[in-house]
Amino acid sequence: MEFKQRIEELLKQPLTPIRVQSLQVNLGYLCNMACSHCHVSAGPGRTEVMTKDTVDEVLALLRAEQIMTLDITGGAPELNPHFRYLVQEAKKTGCHVVVHSNLTVFFEPGLEHLPQFYQDHDAEITASLPCYLDSGVDSARGKGTYHKSVEALRQLNHLGYGDGKAGRKLNLVYNPSGPFLPPEQKRLEEDYRRELAARQGITFDRLFVFANMPVGRFRKQLERAGALQQYCDLLEQAFNPSTLTGLMCRHLISVGWDGTLYDCDFNQGLGLGLQHIRDFDRDRLAGREIMTGGHCYGCTAGQGST
Ligand code: SF4
Repeated sequence: MEFKQRIEELLKQPLTPIRVQSLQVNLGYLCNMACSHCHVSAGPGRTEVMTKDTVDEVLALLRAEQIMTLDITGGAPELNPHFRYLVQEAKKTGCHVVVHSNLTVFFEPGLEHLPQFYQDHDAEITASLPCYLDSGVDSARGKGTYHKSVEALRQLNHLGYGDGKAGRKLNLVYNPSGPFLPPEQKRLEEDYRRELAARQGITFDRLFVFANMPVGRFRKQLERAGALQQYCDLLEQAFNPSTLTGLMCRHLISVGWDGTLYDCDFNQGLGLGLQHIRDFDRDRLAGREIMTGGHCYGCTAGQGST
């Protein structure tokens, strides 16, 4: 059944926002890595990065609207030359800043200061770590990634990140290595906590467990393997109506590298744009119908993925 039809049968109306509390900003598709699951197909060869003018439009929006959280993503957002400026100015508006970091970017030339920069600006870090073992990480994200990720996590722990107390939050993200659903979040979080502490002496606050979205590089991989339909069927069969309230698209607006607004980062990966940030109209956006499609079953499968 089409996702839209399913939602309308359940909610008796299309999918709409609940309350926009966060702005998710994608600073561009440039990345020092090229992970197999990336839904925006980011990598070292990508040239799309947000300009200073667009960063200023984001900041103007933060100053004008009551946005509680700025969620910064990419690619590797730290590779955008205006990244530090965005974080510094956003903090002045009083909003909470969350950065999605791949961790290995800490070891790129000239970016060794990042852990200290994050601590100085009270930024929350959400970092992908698809396994607590080196083989699981290196196969999904490239050779040597695990070693760098562990070293980066140690640096963050040393600065007070991930100690379970308020402030300096350090979250990890797990996603499966292939076309299957992730295990239960609570159980996997316990495994990560025990194994990372015992093997590496690392602590963290939360583990988020996400299904791979059939979008971007992962979709191409499925197509090449002739497994796209089978994976989409798996997601659809695992539909869980209790995930609908928490869907990311109902609580945030996503801003693409060129200033186009989207319902979410996944719709950005599919090019399903709404309007430009300079035309931001809170009332119009609050009353919009969210653009859904078959990929949305990736967010509603099992325990949900947003
Ligand atoms: S992909 Fe997920 S977050 Fe995006 S519109 Fe669909 S359900 Fe919402």
